[in-house]
Amino acid sequence: MSIDVVQVTRALDYAAKKHVSQRRKGEAQEPYINHLAEVAHLLAEATGGNDANLVIAGLLHDCIEDQGVTFEELVELFSADVAGLVRDVTDDKTLLKAERKRLQIVETPHKSDRAKMLKIADKTSNLRAMAVSPPSGWDEQRKRDYFAWALAVVAGCRGVNAFLEEQFDRAYRDGQK
Ligand code: ZN
Repeated sequence: MSIDVVQVTRALDYAAKKHVSQRRKGEAQEPYINHLAEVAHLLAEATGGNDANLVIAGLLHDCIEDQGVTFEELVELFSADVAGLVRDVTDDKTLLKAERKRLQIVETPHKSDRAKMLKIADKTSNLRAMAVSPPSGWDEQRKRDYFAWALAVVAGCRGVNAFLEEQFDRAYRDGQK
């Protein structure tokens, strides 16, 4: 148990350093670590604190995609399990954005239950942020399109965790107001 605390806080420290200059897309420009902390917390609640690796993957889930960290690095520093979870939710940046978004809808249903949980937590955090602090320059239609896309991705994750689905559905509803 104490090993888990060390590992989780090590991942927190690592993520904070890797994403130190990154801000969220919204007008409020929150530090990116706020997003990672929210995703990790959702996963901790969803699993009753019983899946430390999933919480760690929540903290690290954007570091390959956004910070150029490699899969091998995560295997070495954390574990193959953590690295695999992060890789499962990482987009292929060599593809165009529209294709990446399409693939998320198509591929997510075939991922593991834990990767699906990570995906729901990620989308929940993004919709919550979108509701209170949408990116500047986004009109209503663009926001609506984003919500519709997130809903379509999460549709392929349903049935793995009721708590997370509830959190997502609430964020979706709140964003429509
Ligand atoms: Zn994310």
